[in-house]
Amino acid sequence: MFTDSHCHITDDSLYEKIEEVIQNIIDKKVTSCMIMCTGKKELERALEIKKEYPFFKVAFGWFPEDAKTITEQDYIYLEDVIKQGKIDCLGEIGLDYYWDTSFNDLQKEMFIRQIQIANAYNLPISIHMRESTKDCMDILKQYAKTKIIFHCFSGSKETMMEALKMNAYISFAGPITFKNARQAPECIQACPVDRILSETDSPYLTPVPYRGKQNQPMYVEYVAKKISELKNIDLDSLCAQISKNYQSFFER
Ligand SMILES: [Zn+2]
Repeated sequence: MFTDSHCHITDDSLYEKIEEVIQNIIDKKVTSCMIMCTGKKELERALEIKKEYPFFKVAFGWFPEDAKTITEQDYIYLEDVIKQGKIDCLGEIGLDYYWDTSFNDLQKEMFIRQIQIANAYNLPISIHMRESTKDCMDILKQYAKTKIIFHCFSGSKETMMEALKMNAYISFAGPITFKNARQAPECIQACPVDRILSETDSPYLTPVPYRGKQNQPMYVEYVAKKISELKNIDLDSLCAQISKNYQSFFER
């Protein structure tokens, strides 16, 4: 029923209780779930999980922070993983100017190169965009040729409209349930229902009423409920639509 288009369950903090996390996913009817891997160890863990539970999708990509240290070997590793058919999506990739703006150019270079790799293998991409809207949108417009998810979308309605012109999917996370969510309600109301996705970004961004606790995919229910409220669509129909959107993201 529920879709979590973006979670980090192979991150150490969730992986240490992975059996429980997966049981909760099953019990709470999270039937679609994409594991985002930001390193080799996380990817190996995710592939093991997928062997046992084939409903998981697996994504891998070099995170903006890695632009400082990325090597040719790392690009080769990424391409090998793709060639072997191990991943369903390239991501999360993008630009993050929030913590450190001293290596923006390196971030852009790595972002473009990963988009080009995705293009070469016709692989969809999941985008991390933080404090970098203009550069990120410019690069995507110029280079991206495959399907796009804007993960944990927190931009303006104008930015969302630009993203929709690229036929992107807009994925909403826990912060839409926070009292101070300002732009999110407006965006959700304006977003065509066939472009909406839900996610947790767990272990981060826990939705209300569990805000402050560690996040898990099972809490995506509260994100979906908030979207259904804002769109005035009953929860079952919304979840069915989101799950359809999620499937279509992987169609090539
Ligand atoms: Zn993430």
